[in-house]
Formats: sequence, C-alpha cells, structure tokens
Amino acid sequence: MIKSVRGTRDLLPPDTAQWNFVEAAARDVFRTYNFQEIRTPVLEDLSLFQRSVGEETDIVSKEMFAWQDRGRAESEKGQWLALRPENTAGTVRAYIEHKLWERPGVQKLFYIGPQFRRERPQKGRYRQFYQIGAEAIGPPAAGSESPARDAEVLEMLATLLDRLGIQDWTLQLNSVGCANDRPRYHQALRAALVPAVAKMCDDCQRRAVTNPLRVFDCKVPEDQPIIAKLPSIADYLDDSCRTHFTEVQRILTALSVPFVLNDRLVRGLDYYERTAFEFTHGSLGAQNAILGGGRYDGLSETLGGPRAPGIGFAIGEDRLILSLKETAEALAKKPDAYLAPLGPGMNAEAAKLARDLRHHDLIIELGDESFRLKKSLETASKIGARYVVIVGENEVKADAFALKKLSTGEQVTVPRAELAARILSA
Ligand code: AMP
Repeated sequence: MIKSVRGTRDLLPPDTAQWNFVEAAARDVFRTYNFQEIRTPVLEDLSLFQRSVGEETDIVSKEMFAWQDRGRAESEKGQWLALRPENTAGTVRAYIEHKLWERPGVQKLFYIGPQFRRERPQKGRYRQFYQIGAEAIGPPAAGSESPARDAEVLEMLATLLDRLGIQDWTLQLNSVGCANDRPRYHQALRAALVPAVAKMCDDCQRRAVTNPLRVFDCKVPEDQPIIAKLPSIADYLDDSCRTHFTEVQRILTALSVPFVLNDRLVRGLDYYERTAFEFTHGSLGAQNAILGGGRYDGLSETLGGPRAPGIGFAIGEDRLILSLKETAEALAKKPDAYLAPLGPGMNAEAAKLARDLRHHDLIIELGDESFRLKKSLETASKIGARYVVIVGENEVKADAFALKKLSTGEQVTVPRAELAARILSA
C-alpha cells in the first residue's frame, strides 16, 4: 500500500470544515483592512531563499526541499529549484518582478497556502504545513516604514484571533534593530561569545563566527544558560529604531492590544529588521507559536528591487486549528434532506426535485431508485440528514411529496411548491 509521505497528511472531512472556517474568517478580517490576495508558485529558484531567509538559518541550511532540475538538453544541468519554505520571499519577488511599487500606496497582500520544511515531524510540526500570511510593503513615501503599519498588522491579528474565539494568546514583541545598529550588536555578541562558545553546540560555534544573531535560534538545553546571559539587543538600538519601537508600543496600548516585551525573540529568518513578534498559545505545548512575523525593510533591496520597507506575518494554520474551540463536527454541514426515489424512472424525478431544492441553498443528498425505502431511511439517518423526501410514482402524480422528519419520525405530505420553505423552516 502506498502511504502519504512522512511529515505530510491528508486533511479529510469533517476536519476540512475547520480549515474552511479559519480561512473564511481570515479572508473576511483581511478584507476590512484592505488586504488583497496574492498567489505565488510553490516552486521557486533556490537562490531566492538563500538570499532572503539566509544561508545560515536552519530553514535554508537544514530543512529545504531543493534539487537541481534537468536542463533543456538531456546532458545539461538545470536550475536549482526549491519548494517554498515560507511565502514572504516569494511575495517580495513578485513585488519586484511585477513592479508593484508603481501601484498607488502600500501594497497589502495576503496569501493562504502550503509551505515545505524538512523538519522532524511531531504534533504541530509537519513537512508540508499551511500558512495564512500577509505583507504590507511599498515605497517609503507611501508610509510603508511607519510604526502605524506595524500596529495595524498586529491589531488585525488580535482581531482575527478574537474572531476565531482563540483566547489566552500572548503577543511577544521585540525590536531586532536594523542595518545601522546591527554591526555594533554583532560585535558585542561575538565578544560575549568568545569565553563561552567552546562549550556550546556545533551549530552555535559556527553561528558565533558567521551570524551571531542566529545563536538565539538554538534549542539545545545546555546552551540556554549561556544564551540567557548574552547582551540584549534593546541596549544597542539606534535612536530611529528605538523611537520606531516605542511608537509601535504606544499605538498598541492605545488600541488596547496587550503585549509582552521579549528581547530574546529574533525569529529564525535573516530578513527581519526592527519589529519582530510572535503570538503564542498555552495549549500547544512545545510548538506553541501560532504565528510569527516582523518588519523586513531591506528585503526588496537584497533581492535586487527598489527600497520597499514592509511588515508581515505568517500564521501556522495547522497550529491555529489545534487551538480552535469549534469542533469539526459542529462546523461540518449535514444534509438538510435525503431524497429517496422509489421505483423505476424515479431517479430523473428525484434529480429534478433536488435541483429545485438546491436552488434554495439546501444541502441535498440523493438515493437511487434501486434502493428499498428501508435502505434509504437507514442511509439518510447514518449521514445525519434532517429529512427524507420520498419520490415515488404517486407523489410525482400528485405533485406533493412525503416528507419525513428523522428526529421524530413524523411524516406529512407537502406540495412541491412548499417543500423548500418547509425544510428551511425547521
Ligand atoms: P516562520 O515562517 O518560521 O516565521 O513561522 C511562522 C509560523 O508557521 C510558526 O509560528 C508556526 O505556527 C508555523 N510553522 C512553521 N514551521 C512549521 C511546521 N513545520 N509545521 C507546522 N507549522 C509550522
């Protein structure tokens, strides 16, 4: 038997009702903040992620699904391709490729789709997982750099989580500085790491040299006491980053969006500058981050585009669903009625009636004229239909149908023209 690949899974009904519920709520909330959908390819050039997410990050150095494609000629080697591990890089690539900066204002784009990382699968962590994300990006003159954009995005997330009935979330907030103050902070980090690094894990020994900020991504328990004593980025922010961060906090406070400051939060991607954040949720155990994001003011230039500051986030949809209170059963819709054609020639009559009823937005399941009534009633009850409508020769002649309510067994005869209203009413 061929099975689904490790770290991937099938989403089946009724569970998909939860996914649709979450996605519909996200689309609804994003719309009111004037975000519009973008769909980028799952396949991208590998170098897109090497240059944006960063070669030293776990995502690119360890978790990428990447391979060299065949060239046009049989013998020729082709392009290096990757399954996207996240969607910000692809969105910014599209922003540059289609010159979206020529459109007025800040581009507010959202996406919903699968992402791929070769991680060790566990609860809440998959190799194919789904993100719902959004990006607000544009020329500085359009206001894309403003702390008001950060606050707007964060408040939108709080609104979405509230709308989904997800309580007990914590917004963890940090500023990771910018190109201007990073060198001083890197220097301080390197200096602080000198006496300790020999005792740290192999990854940290490498990171300490190549990209010291990535030391904060380390999950090795023995390294944590050393990491806890490293200098705080908050002490190294330059004036403009500090003012920006203070203003983000001020607006959030004015909007009554609660947050906690966490100066160890750097997020595992290189492109973040200034604001970085995560929403965590207590019920999720080790994989407790429902979503993460931040500002990436230099990303467009890194990818060869114009200056285009931006801020965005990605919600881990798989994890969001784990923290949802609504059960799949409660969200999944059951048929309003099961039509039971009785006897030869009745399939066409039942199909006609089903068509009328479906025009009234009713959910209709159809039996088959070869079924005995007993079988139809049993099937209708198993699939959770509310009513059974019997479509036999006599009913068709009279243009009135036997309508049986399954919860009570009560049966009445209802003229065709009144059937939909009758089913809708109870
Ligand atoms: P990131 O793109 O790393 O900033 O992650 C954003 C969010 O995506 C995280 O907070 C998680 O909720 C989710 N996420 C990241 N990796 C995985 C994974 N392997 N499986 C499930 N969700 C993930």
